[in-house]
Amino acid sequence: MAKQEKLTILVVDDSVMMRNVISQMIEKSGHNAIVAENHIQTMKYLRTQRVDLILMDVEMPVVDGFVLTQMIRKKIDHWIPIIFLSSNDSDDYLTKGIDSGGDDYLTKPVKEVILNAKVRAMTRIARMQSELDDLNQQLAILTNIDPLTQVMNRRGLENFMTKSWQINYRQKSEISLLMLDIDFFKPYNDNYGHVQGDKCLQEFAQLLMKSINRASDAVVRFGGEEFIIILPFTPISGARFKAQEIIALLKSTAIKHDFSSVASFVTASIGITSTSLHAKDHLELIKQADSALYLAKEKGRNQSILYQAEKH
Ligand code: GH3
Ligand code: MG
Ligand code: MG
Ligand code: MG
Repeated sequence: MAKQEKLTILVVDDSVMMRNVISQMIEKSGHNAIVAENHIQTMKYLRTQRVDLILMDVEMPVVDGFVLTQMIRKKIDHWIPIIFLSSNDSDDYLTKGIDSGGDDYLTKPVKEVILNAKVRAMTRIARMQSELDDLNQQLAILTNIDPLTQVMNRRGLENFMTKSWQINYRQKSEISLLMLDIDFFKPYNDNYGHVQGDKCLQEFAQLLMKSINRASDAVVRFGGEEFIIILPFTPISGARFKAQEIIALLKSTAIKHDFSSVASFVTASIGITSTSLHAKDHLELIKQADSALYLAKEKGRNQSILYQAEKH
């Protein structure tokens, strides 16, 4: 539900007279009323436009308000408050209304002041619900993000890879993966201190973020000073190019590192692989990149190596 005060309220009633009366009350209180005379029109509205609240008649031919409410709860995945309007004021009816998924129950004829108060109350609940949805969404994002560097964490990687793998499988395309490890990071930490070490990790992550340019690419902090870049829809040639670009970018950025044995600035070693090298799942893909990375370290660091030991 939107946060602005003007709500779109759907009036569902088979009687044209009732639709008019209720709509007028709604418009008078500053909201926007739309009307539906049966379940078909109702479902169409709910699927095609934003509705903040539904005022639902109970007695309707073919599909009554209770059954229609059950349909809405089953088929529309977000929650919209529903208030029943009925000329039947028995306790039984009220209970049935709440049981079928309604949120409140008013008897006809409806007093304008009561209707307005109910709309306000429902709006409040709907707003809280929407804020809760937003928070849950933020939380889901947060649990996939590394707090230090703000790139994806290992958990995010799992979700991302599972999805990418499925898409890749369907489209028969290629995913490339780079595993990067900062060279001589322990001496960096030991000499410049942990705080500066953290800053370096942040800068390194930003540099990697800058180096990717497709929305489908992702940077992950795999742990410590190890990062992964996933490049969906990218062949090995593209991945090698990217690795070289990162090595060049590290050189031009030149984060000072007086305690490295390979350069006067921070460098990284990179292992490259892609799904064309027959990994059976994403875990094996990561393992391949890791073993290529190991070779890059062994061969002197500040370089990238393709899995299966092809140096470039
Ligand atoms: P190599 O060139 O072989 O990669 O050597 P290295 O020193 O980079 O690798 P090593 O695995 O020996 O050390 C990694 C260091 O990374 C250890 C630790 O001091 C540092 N480190 C890991 N996580 C963090 C972190 O979150 N913050 C900081 N500041 N340092 C970290
Ligand atoms: Mg009716
Ligand atoms: Mg390491
Ligand atoms: Mg390292």
